[in-house]
Amino acid sequence: MKNVKHAKCVKCGKIYKAVPDLTNCSCGGILDIVYDYGYIKTVLTWETLAARRDYSMWRYRELLPVEETTAAPPLRVGWSPLYPAPRLAETLGIRKLFVKDDGVNPTASLKDRASSMAVAKAREAGAKVIACSSTGNAASSLAGNAAAAGLETYIFIPSRAPKGKVAQLMTFGATVISVQGSYEETFELSKAAIEKWGWYNRNAAINPYLSEGKKTVGLEIMEQLGWEVPDYIAISVGDGCTIAGLWKGLKDLYAIGLIDRLPRLISVQAEGCCPLNRAIASGGDWAPMEENTLADSIAVGVPRNADKALMAVRESNGLAVNVSDQEIMAAQKLLGQTCGVFGEPAGVTGTAGLKKLCEQGVIPADAAVVSVVTGSGLKDVANAIAFCGEPVSIPNSMARLTEAFAARNAGQGKI
Ligand SMILES: *Cc1c(COP(=O)(O)O)cnc(C)c1O
Ligand SMILES: [Zn+2]
Repeated sequence: MKNVKHAKCVKCGKIYKAVPDLTNCSCGGILDIVYDYGYIKTVLTWETLAARRDYSMWRYRELLPVEETTAAPPLRVGWSPLYPAPRLAETLGIRKLFVKDDGVNPTASLKDRASSMAVAKAREAGAKVIACSSTGNAASSLAGNAAAAGLETYIFIPSRAPKGKVAQLMTFGATVISVQGSYEETFELSKAAIEKWGWYNRNAAINPYLSEGKKTVGLEIMEQLGWEVPDYIAISVGDGCTIAGLWKGLKDLYAIGLIDRLPRLISVQAEGCCPLNRAIASGGDWAPMEENTLADSIAVGVPRNADKALMAVRESNGLAVNVSDQEIMAAQKLLGQTCGVFGEPAGVTGTAGLKKLCEQGVIPADAAVVSVVTGSGLKDVANAIAFCGEPVSIPNSMARLTEAFAARNAGQGKI
């Protein structure tokens, strides 16, 4: 890899050769991939990117840690739409707002960015089997991306994972182990099994290549904004790999001179499970919490990427805000009604946090903001129906329809 120098432990600074099956440092710390920005600068410019016709995350190859000869995996991941959201901006009282909808990825979440990278690196490692533990989306995403590439998967999920994600797993032909326990316990079991059977490890907190895949969300946001840097980017946080990846992508672009400043990150967690945001608020270290939220994808009591995530928020002079499940569901409906975007609870948690900060007057009215929707609402329809209610149900009759309108609208002229 001409563009990669090595991997470096974020805790102790120890340097490792960037082999395809890298895991943690011997000190337990997470590794970070270090690039040769001097070289990348000479080959990746606004102009070279503008001429590219690869509309996927792999358009940023020079900033991705793969061999030049490694083919992009089959599913088309990334280059998700960045929608201007003027009506939502108006509701929130800010000047400029964009919604990045990562729910449109092949398996309907941002996790596809990490899974596409996992498949590429597993192929480089010559692996036939990939394994991971996941609250649900990393699992279904790995299963889909691996199936397309002809790789076998072993997946560990907590038994609370919503049905939509389980349906994806079973359809993609994964070997699924549903663990009767928390995500924390699921993770520990997967770790032991991976050690015992030697599968390729797609646990984002252990495999340092995965946040390099996730960083492409940040690269895309900047290119889609014409390299005009927003003031804030709001995103939901569980293990912390996503927000750390986002930050890495932004810093990469800054390092090679494609952007001239960096935005502030807004880390949003659920009130019932916010160990990282507590650490940010206190300025100290994090402590485990219960996993008490309906936003299942970010119900992570023991965050596995804490070091990188905390560093990202602190370095960006970022903000941390927690939201209730009620606020999350209200944001889901608001995004649906103002943008036509349907996000899963964890997918809209970033927007819920942004809304709260706007209401508190923390975000200035002249700010330009990006809100990332990290997963599709079709993954968990039960919570959406419970919050928004059931539709009007009537027999096939105009008379009954007229009655139903009259009963529902109480003279307001709408149903
Ligand atoms: C995984 C996930 C997140 C959070 O990512 P982390 O790396 O765990 O912080 C947010 N939203 C959705 C939909 C996810 O699947
Ligand atoms: Zn170390």
